[in-house]
Amino acid sequence: MELNLSPINNMPLQAAPAGTRSEPEAGPNVSTNSDVIKVLILGSGPAGLAAALYAARAELKPVVLAGMELGGQAALTHTIENYPGFPTGVGGAELGELFQKQAERFGATVEYDSATAVDLSSRPYRVSTYSGQYLAETLILATGASPNHLNVPGEKELTGRGVSYCATCDGWFFKDKKVVVVGGGDSALEEALFLTRYASSVTIIHRRDALRAGAILQRRAFSDAKVRFIWNSVVTEVVGDVKTTAVQIKNLVTQETSSFPTDGVFIFIGHTPNTQMYQGQLAMDDLGYVQVNQFTETSKPGVYAAGEVMDSHFRQVITSAGMGAAAAIQATKFLEDQPQPQEVTETVQEPSA
Ligand code: NAP
Repeated sequence: MELNLSPINNMPLQAAPAGTRSEPEAGPNVSTNSDVIKVLILGSGPAGLAAALYAARAELKPVVLAGMELGGQAALTHTIENYPGFPTGVGGAELGELFQKQAERFGATVEYDSATAVDLSSRPYRVSTYSGQYLAETLILATGASPNHLNVPGEKELTGRGVSYCATCDGWFFKDKKVVVVGGGDSALEEALFLTRYASSVTIIHRRDALRAGAILQRRAFSDAKVRFIWNSVVTEVVGDVKTTAVQIKNLVTQETSSFPTDGVFIFIGHTPNTQMYQGQLAMDDLGYVQVNQFTETSKPGVYAAGEVMDSHFRQVITSAGMGAAAAIQATKFLEDQPQPQEVTETVQEPSA
């Protein structure tokens, strides 16, 4: 799930949504000293919702800021075939809903709201959202990652007009059309195979002569009559006026350039973690992933990270869910070890009329 990542200093201080904590009372000052949430979870992908389940079962009444849509990137996957317990596969969106129901059954609250800024300078931690502000004793960061862009001419201009980063979302629009897929990893092949349901042909353009994707997906792609490959090549431009009509391709071996007619360009070239909100506040690696220890602990006490926000290696639904569970277990232990939090006496000045 891609969260909006507005700069921290643009954030208004507002009241939190009804139902999550006390409504502010009328008057010149609005006290926000009540209802500090014990576990606030940012993100509703597998990591966030698994964390919610575990924190809820520890009776910590976790609140999940789900973003505008539930389920994270996994929800955009048509069928997930490698999550245990579903021998015939499960829809990505359906799995997210099942996670949500299970967490809510034990007392988790899922809010369709996005974190826009976090303040980790002191506890309780402060999280601003579109509709309010939360104070939390512990945070579980599960804001995931967003798809990388090619950053070539025409890509931005033609996004939504032939350029897409989600076959499940947009594949239907390419019935009996020719599409290209850029990338050679699991995502590229999985999505290319999904696109064969609609498209008349799916041409995978990969910058090397060997795929990164796993063996099963490779076998399926090589044996699918609709799937073709252009090797050792990169897309240098997406061409089109009101809609995409072609891509410019450069062969990296021969340096030759050519135009390849297509109705759609699906780009699957990896991801960037959604960690802009935490920059300068948490230790991160060179690629911007939040750094954690083996207990999912970040560099701030009581702040945990799980899933693709901290994992550039495994990136599976099951590993993200496992890390979410681990983060909630650690948050529970942290809270058990803490003296009762002191009352916060912060006041928020109402704007003058
Ligand atoms: P990925 O494994 O990082 O693959 C990205 C692909 O894009 C690579 O083939 C890479 O080429 C290519 N690429 C990167 N930058 C490029 C650029 N600027 N121009 C052209 N090509 C570029 O990413 P992913 O496929 O999204 O997978 C991410 C993780 O999720 C992986 O761990 C994967 O196993 C997992 N995943 C699993 C499944 C599944 O199990 N069914 C499904 C989806 C994803 P090179 O190969 O030359 O580097």
